[in-house]
Amino acid sequence: METSIYFDNAATTPLKKEVLDAMMPYLTKEYGNPSSIYSLGRSSKNALEKAREQVAEAIGAKPSEIYFTGCGSEADNWAIKGTAFAKSKKGKHIISSKIEHHAVLHTLQYLEKQGFEVTYLPVDEFGKVSVEDLKSAIRPDTILITIMMANNEVGTIEPIAEIGKIARENQIVFHTDAVQAVGSIDVDVNELNVDMLSLSGHKFGGPKGVGALYIKSTVRPEVFMHGGAQERMRRAGTENVASVVGLGEAITLATNNLKEKKEKITHLREYLIENILEKIPYVKLNGHRTDRLPGNANFSFNFIEGEALLLMLDIKGIAASSGSACTSGSLDPSHVLLALGLPHEIAHGSLRISIGEQNTKEEIDKLIEVLPDVVLRLREMSPLYEEIMRNQ
Ligand code: PLP
Repeated sequence: METSIYFDNAATTPLKKEVLDAMMPYLTKEYGNPSSIYSLGRSSKNALEKAREQVAEAIGAKPSEIYFTGCGSEADNWAIKGTAFAKSKKGKHIISSKIEHHAVLHTLQYLEKQGFEVTYLPVDEFGKVSVEDLKSAIRPDTILITIMMANNEVGTIEPIAEIGKIARENQIVFHTDAVQAVGSIDVDVNELNVDMLSLSGHKFGGPKGVGALYIKSTVRPEVFMHGGAQERMRRAGTENVASVVGLGEAITLATNNLKEKKEKITHLREYLIENILEKIPYVKLNGHRTDRLPGNANFSFNFIEGEALLLMLDIKGIAASSGSACTSGSLDPSHVLLALGLPHEIAHGSLRISIGEQNTKEEIDKLIEVLPDVVLRLREMSPLYEEIMRNQ
């Protein structure tokens, strides 16, 4: 059955029509290489620079501090490895958190094999990093702090401005993975006291396979890709002009009237959460009650497997995500839910609903109508549930 209701906007978002329109010329008649000096090349170059201004404006940076990358993961890799290698003479200690995206965690694991030492800060039951824990983790050889702005699974928003202040006081480079935050909540690099920030086009109505890294002018991570002189000689390779144009257009659209959009989406989320908690027994809301991304609702249902739930919802034409990593070939429950202290069996029964700009109240109503029945049908297959019901 075709998906008719899409609730997986944290995984990716539909490309906006205006974004496609802005990209089209650069996929067709405007095919010049931005490094070429004749007018066809200059036209592509101008388009890149316009997109750079759009990204800079959206996050309060200078255009010269924006570097386009092949995706959000690349931006994270560059910020972390680039800083580690540039600063390794000063020290080899890095601070991060237990709930980072794999683009950060696996990069850190790679660095550990190269002799770096990483402190992974714990989070509380709502997914928040403690500023006090951060302060006590800082050492004379700490060279980098990398902590995400908002978590992709449970939506918890971290105290980035406070963390940035502490990093600055201790003269430690601070990177934040803001891939889930940009386009959903206000992001201003100056207010947040960050030195580097990663973002990704497909999370806010832009194309896949394009991202950006903000690098404050005073910070110098190592060059990411060696080769030509693109991206001020720091990330070589002929630019993906059409996608960069799409990213620029998408970030402008996403950050326009952000306050109204946030209110509308938060309202839908609250309506969903209230109804699910009321209509379904043995359910838990994961993440922070208020400090969370407007569109994120993450639930754990006892006695069921998240994957089975996803398949049943898919049959009903609803696309959502589970908290576990099964899609990536592992049967382990999500590292994020475990870090929040959820027992394995509960972490397995998780469902992430991520609401986007295009979703309507009617779609939420449909989910509220369908979900209690789907959960009950799955629970009826569980011996544990049967036993609990029998003993009631
Ligand atoms: N960081 C976070 C928090 C994400 O949610 C994602 C994507 O899911 C990424 C990084 C990776 O972004 P990309 O898919 O553009 O590589």
